[in-house]
Amino acid sequence: MTQKEKTTSAIVRMEKVNKHFGNLHVLKDIDLEVMPGEVVVIIGASGSGKSTLIRCINGLEEFQSGHIDVDGNELTPYGKSGKALQRIRTEVGMVFQQFNLFPHLSVRDNVTLAPMKVRGWNQEDAVETAERLLQRVGIADQSEKYPTQLSGGQQQRVALARALAMEPRLMLFDEPTSALDPEMIGEVLDAMRELAREGMTMIIVTHEMGFAREVADRVIYVHKGEIAEVAPPEKIFDSPHDERTRSFLSRVL
Ligand code: ADP
Ligand code: MG
Repeated sequence: MTQKEKTTSAIVRMEKVNKHFGNLHVLKDIDLEVMPGEVVVIIGASGSGKSTLIRCINGLEEFQSGHIDVDGNELTPYGKSGKALQRIRTEVGMVFQQFNLFPHLSVRDNVTLAPMKVRGWNQEDAVETAERLLQRVGIADQSEKYPTQLSGGQQQRVALARALAMEPRLMLFDEPTSALDPEMIGEVLDAMRELAREGMTMIIVTHEMGFAREVADRVIYVHKGEIAEVAPPEKIFDSPHDERTRSFLSRVL
C-alpha cells in the first residue's frame, strides 16, 4: 500500500491534536491512525491523558488545535463540528469504566432506546436486535431485569450490547474492567475478545496487560500527554525502546 492509500483508508486519523484544560497541556501533538479492523490498546499512568485522548475521538472533549477525522467526518478545534459530530456520535460506540446504564430502564430497554430514538427503528426490530446482542454477550436471560439487579460484570456486558445495538463502525473502551470485582473481569474481556475476533475496530484503554498482549494489533504508551511509543504488543512488552515505557512497565507488570 502506498502512504496515500494508507492515509485515506484509516478510520481514525488524529493529526497534531493539542488539548488544554486551563493551563494544563493534556494532549501534546497527538498523531494517530487506526485502520479498519485494528485493535489498538492505550496504556499509561493515571493522569497521562488516556481518557482525554479517546474522548476527543467521539467529541466528548473539545481540543484546541489539530484535526481529527473519524470515518470521513472531521472534528475541528473548539467543538465547532456540528453535523460531523452528530454523525460521529452515531457511528462510534463507547463503553466506560462506570457502566452508565439508564437505571430506570430494563436491560432490554437500555439496549433498544438509542436504535429507536436515533436510528428510527421500530420496536420489533430493536427488540429482536437487543435479544440477539444480549445473547451474544451471554445475558439473554436477564433482559427483564433492571441494572441494579445485575452484577457489575453483567452490567458492563449490557453496556457493551447497548453500544453494539447502534451498529458502530468503531468502539472505544475506557478502562471497561477497572470498576469490576476481579472475578468478573474475565467475562467482560471474553466478550471484548470475541468482538475483536469478529473484526470490530477497537481502541481500548486498559491496565489488563495480558489482554493487551493477546488482543492488540498495536499498543500505544502515553506519557504525560504524549505518545511515547507505538509498537506491536510483543515488541512493547518484551523490548520497549523508550526508557519511559520501560520504566512504566517495570512498575505495572
Ligand atoms: P488518564 O485517563 O490517563 O488517567 P485523563 O485523560 O483523565 O488521564 O486526565 C489527564 C489530565 O487532565 C489529568 O491531569 C487530569 O487531572 C486532567 N483532567 C481531566 N479531565 C479534566 C477536566 N474536566 N478538567 C480539568 N482537568 C482535567
Ligand atoms: Mg482515564
